[in-house]
Amino acid sequence: MKTPLLLRHLFDYAMTYFPNQEIVSRTHHGMHRYTYEEYGARTRQLSSALAKLGVEVGDRVGTFLWNDQYHMEAYFGVPAMGAVLHTINIRLPADQIAYIINHAGDRVLIVDRTLWPLLAPVREQLTSVEAILLTGPPQSTDPVSNAYDYETLIAEGDPHFAYPDLDENAPMGMCYTSATTGNPKGVVYSHRGIYLHSLTLGLANTLALSMQDATLPVVPMFHVNAWGLPFAALWFGCKIVLPGPAPQPKTLLDLMAEEGVTLAAGVPTVWMGLAKELEAQPTPLKLRAAVCGGSAAPEALIRTYEERFHIPFIHAYGMTETSPIASVARLKSHHQSLPASEQLSVKSSQGLLVPGLTIRLERDGQDLPWDGEQAGEMCIQGPWIADEYYRDERSAATFIDGWLHTGDVAAIDKEGYIHIVDRTKDVIKSGGEWISSVDLENALMAHPAVFEAAVVGVPHPKWDERPLAFVVLKDGATVDKSELVTLLATRFAKWQLPDDILFIDEVPKTSVGKFLKRALREQYRNYLA
Ligand code: ADP
Repeated sequence: MKTPLLLRHLFDYAMTYFPNQEIVSRTHHGMHRYTYEEYGARTRQLSSALAKLGVEVGDRVGTFLWNDQYHMEAYFGVPAMGAVLHTINIRLPADQIAYIINHAGDRVLIVDRTLWPLLAPVREQLTSVEAILLTGPPQSTDPVSNAYDYETLIAEGDPHFAYPDLDENAPMGMCYTSATTGNPKGVVYSHRGIYLHSLTLGLANTLALSMQDATLPVVPMFHVNAWGLPFAALWFGCKIVLPGPAPQPKTLLDLMAEEGVTLAAGVPTVWMGLAKELEAQPTPLKLRAAVCGGSAAPEALIRTYEERFHIPFIHAYGMTETSPIASVARLKSHHQSLPASEQLSVKSSQGLLVPGLTIRLERDGQDLPWDGEQAGEMCIQGPWIADEYYRDERSAATFIDGWLHTGDVAAIDKEGYIHIVDRTKDVIKSGGEWISSVDLENALMAHPAVFEAAVVGVPHPKWDERPLAFVVLKDGATVDKSELVTLLATRFAKWQLPDDILFIDEVPKTSVGKFLKRALREQYRNYLA
């Protein structure tokens, strides 16, 4: 049958089979809990309220929210009615926020009242926004024009609102990804793409998400759909645990323990912060999967979780343009008998491409063999891979002949495991050779005194660029520079070693908690000049 693959089918299935399952959310005022059934009625009320406001199929509805129950309602309430869920990164600078709202042409915004002060300064610049729905209790800072109280508005909505039939290729959501220079670039997701992406998260070769799980997306719901977890989790009947406003490691740990979380997902810095907290406060957890992606997970971090805390660690790779999950590092059956150290090197790779996608490595226009040695740019194709940036001339540089050029340099081994060497923009080009910043960082972070390490290339008069390492020590730990150099010298050739190692208090982070190497590069541009 040619049944269209629509998000409303995920929603209907979840409502039919799991009406009593729970969605739990940390809020500004304690915990909020309700069943899928109650969630479903409110979600339809939201859709109906949006329709009354004039939102039509194809219109963009922006969200400016934490990971909470309101965001969860928008996640299905907006696309199921045919509108487009535009999740806005609340941590972007105000001018970029204004740019993306205008560029997407959002007609309605759903905003957490406590976040309104971030939007207020650019309100006058927003050219397309006709209505603002405010969640949470009234604040003195609330906007006055075209603003509605979310609860009051949806109370008048129809809890039986009927969802329309749509073309499966119709857009259901969009998310902007940061660009090295210039404004963020918009990626549009289709119903079909997200339906298939959600399905893959249930595969045993990937996350094996199921109705046995309690899922906690730490990754923000404004960052590539929280890696698709909210869609798949609801479809498969997971308990959904949402961490609410600005969760700190201790809060996350308590939530995991109290709500029996089995699968949580976040970037490496989240897992590093949690590891510190777990050391300080050993807590029994039911976690069966610590899912980590967004940047390379250091081997030492994986070892800490697997060997010290006995929590299985799953390393995944993806990007905004890939919806995002593109590859997941799970062991093949013949790896099971390998010693732990060899298993670790499989687990710290970016893993195997998920079923449904196609990949190739390209360098200077040529395809490279999968020999684990030769590194080139990964190019990916598949049903949940974007084929352009939304109304953006920069599309031509990234989407070429039907392939997404990821900007990530990798080698693929004979078994198919992807080993990312670096981002094209982070790889250090020294005297015509490439030095992987990721490999150096991994080696530094394997030292027991090191909490974080970032390596960047800075201009050098003779070699073009040379590596400079930045190290953050664990609380109370000390180590000599020379000891770190000796450690690196056991694994790297002399020309690959950093020209200097600098101790700093913190590695600068992006809006989603990744290392912001660009900031270090700019700050230390003249260090070796
Ligand atoms: P941003 O450029 O803002 O970080 P994305 O969130 O889309 O945007 O990031 C995607 C990029 O993150 C990938 O292109 C890759 O460089 C990096 N990345 C994601 N997951 C991993 C991983 N497991 N290992 C190494 N790099 C990763």
